[in-house]
Amino acid sequence: MTAHRQPALLATDPELASLVTAEETLQAQTLRLIPSENYVSAAVLEASGTVLQNKYSEGYPGRRYYEGQQNIDRVEALAVERAKGLFGVEHANVQPYSGSPANLAVYLAFARPGDTVMGMALPMGGHLTHGWGVSATGSWFRGVQYGVRAEDGLIDYDAVRDLALAERPKILFCGGTALPRTIDFEAFASIAKEAGSVLVADVAHIAGLIAGGAHPSPVPYADVVSTTTHKTLRGPRGAMLMCKEEHAKAIDKAVFPGLQGGPHNQTTAGIALALHEAAQPAFTSYAHAVVANAKALAAALLERGFDLVSGGTDNHLILMDLTSRGVPGKVAAKALDRAGIVVNYNTVPFDPRKPFDPSGIRIGTPSLTSRGLSADHMPAVADWISRAVDAAAKADEPALAKIRSEVADLLAAFPAPGLPVA
Ligand SMILES: *Cc1c(COP(=O)(O)O)cnc(C)c1O
Repeated sequence: MTAHRQPALLATDPELASLVTAEETLQAQTLRLIPSENYVSAAVLEASGTVLQNKYSEGYPGRRYYEGQQNIDRVEALAVERAKGLFGVEHANVQPYSGSPANLAVYLAFARPGDTVMGMALPMGGHLTHGWGVSATGSWFRGVQYGVRAEDGLIDYDAVRDLALAERPKILFCGGTALPRTIDFEAFASIAKEAGSVLVADVAHIAGLIAGGAHPSPVPYADVVSTTTHKTLRGPRGAMLMCKEEHAKAIDKAVFPGLQGGPHNQTTAGIALALHEAAQPAFTSYAHAVVANAKALAAALLERGFDLVSGGTDNHLILMDLTSRGVPGKVAAKALDRAGIVVNYNTVPFDPRKPFDPSGIRIGTPSLTSRGLSADHMPAVADWISRAVDAAAKADEPALAKIRSEVADLLAAFPAPGLPVA
């Protein structure tokens, strides 16, 4: 038997230790297709679980409210320098606790409560924090929302422009959580300029693709770039705000002292490490492989008769409308889970069903690509999905169990980064 990976945790709290071990097994044996998830490297796990956790460091490198920051200042400066180098930005703030607080800081920097802000509607693929009603951003600000065209599932830039010129939002968000197509940052920038809006490119999902050159960068066009660090960028759970020098002060002040207290230094170290990894040639290959796998998977799904929103994908993500298969998204997602394939149910644009019981599922290739699966494996993945959705329609549990064992068999040959090898 190999040594336990968290010996102190096991000795102190066996109940919790067993849950962590169970999660390691689950992540090892299931095909994880949630597009916002990934496997971080063992090095990221190590970097983000250190005694840096013990430090309070309100302020910024060289300008702290606490003494004893000799090492912390260098860690944060390293993360900032690496972010600037990797994305080619003038300024980076690596302190936001996660993507949602990063976006809140943007509101604090550029708008006042009641101001009009504009983003993509949540059910069209936008994020809650882009002014959607149930979010603080939609209740404290006046959110106006754009969507995609019914005919082709693509953003109608003329409609976005018309709305922006009519509403003159303080902030215009582009980016989202369920957008399978390339975002035209240049088009958004010209609309924002005409409307007098601050353009925020929220690249939480695609930051790793941008870093690896597999998606155009918003940096030449957006006033602010907001991103999480834990999705395709493959770092610890956290976020960054990047901007031109002219907005640096406003952004920094908004994050601290505007919104947050002490930065999570252990996470900052993990971000520094992830940015280092993302600057290596292997990460460029990774980013391109994520997209190649998504395109191969989309093609294989289309061959099996699935409806894909916008007809396919340009990035890491596929949004499937299951209406024609006669299975609601939630029923399919739960059946896929029993089959060892982890996805999330999702609204599709113009969904006639409710958000908690929508018509679609959302899948993506960041995690399976981190395990080394290639385009050659995507027909098999599409087959499993197709069989599982059919089995869901017939409540055929033995069929789901069979898929689960086939999935585990394939994955055993592709150990995941950061996990114990079985
Ligand atoms: C994931 C995501 C966020 C929020 O990030 P959290 O870390 O979950 O708060 C914000 N915007 C977009 C576009 C996202 O995809």
